[in-house]
Amino acid sequence: MTAAGSTWPRRQVELSLDGETVRVNEGATILEACAAAGIDIPTLCYLETLAPVNVCRVCVVEVVGARTLVPACSRKVEPAMEVLTDSERVRTSRRMVLELLGSSVDLSYAAPEVTEWIDRYGADPSRHGPPMRPSLAGERDSARAGHHHPSDGTTAATVAQPVKRDNAQYVRDYSRCILCYKCVEACGAEAQNTFAIAVAGRGFEARISTEFDVGLPDSACVYCGNCVAVCPTGALMFTAEHDLRASGEWDESRQHVTRTVCPYCGVGCNLEVRVQDNRVVRVTSPLDHDVTSGNLCVKGRFGLDFVSATGEDEPGGIGANRAE
Ligand code: SF4
Ligand code: SF4
Repeated sequence: MTAAGSTWPRRQVELSLDGETVRVNEGATILEACAAAGIDIPTLCYLETLAPVNVCRVCVVEVVGARTLVPACSRKVEPAMEVLTDSERVRTSRRMVLELLGSSVDLSYAAPEVTEWIDRYGADPSRHGPPMRPSLAGERDSARAGHHHPSDGTTAATVAQPVKRDNAQYVRDYSRCILCYKCVEACGAEAQNTFAIAVAGRGFEARISTEFDVGLPDSACVYCGNCVAVCPTGALMFTAEHDLRASGEWDESRQHVTRTVCPYCGVGCNLEVRVQDNRVVRVTSPLDHDVTSGNLCVKGRFGLDFVSATGEDEPGGIGANRAE
């Protein structure tokens, strides 16, 4: 055991999870305690490499004696705490959150677990009615606080809007954005420290925006793609992947992923290079890699299309429009 590392024995905390007594390290979150006990808690805004921001509220649990439900991702365990992860209050809250998200956001590219949670909690987004007309390009971006008006009672308000394509590397499809803040965190103090994007607006008009809503090429963005890597819904996506999905040609049965070391510099970042039909269509890095924690720079993330280059322009490759 050393004083410097994390190998000191930790004080244990005893608490109750759904009636079962468990012991976990002091300082653990309820989410971590549940994971250790094999209890599945849905999460959308949580990622182990980012500080919890408590915005999606889908992980809430009931702590006996507490006035409100608490977010499992950030609430630390306490001695003698009694936690209910599947009470009627919890199920009702999760149902409501998933229903409101499902009625206002396109979740079709979200992880399969989201559909499973919608079924598990009996969420029925369709009961809010058919979606309202999509916003025009720029309409949501120009909304000021208080611009949102209730719908006519027969249709569901949505964030549907045209896809933003203003660079070659990735598209921003905010019809799919659940405002989980992961991209903002990855661009900011949690990883990139560029702060090119933030949440603008209030209430239903809240959205992810660059400064003054300028296009990405005019913003502070350095195209590291760390925001793309953490987006859970496909709102941020490699252009190559987006275009293949849009044309119906995205086919994971024809893809393979190769783990390799980035060829550009000596840092040693690991890459997971996804290829379809000899074209690089997505590059990620493992979250548990101790060099990257899932983050890359523009070269590793978007600079590998030379691998599949034929000497001719190949529309749709990840750097195909670099002259833009
Ligand atoms: S690509 Fe990098 S710099 Fe640009 S918005 Fe995303 S995280 Fe920020
Ligand atoms: S763009 Fe993606 S990562 Fe960013 S807030 Fe929306 S859903 Fe979350």
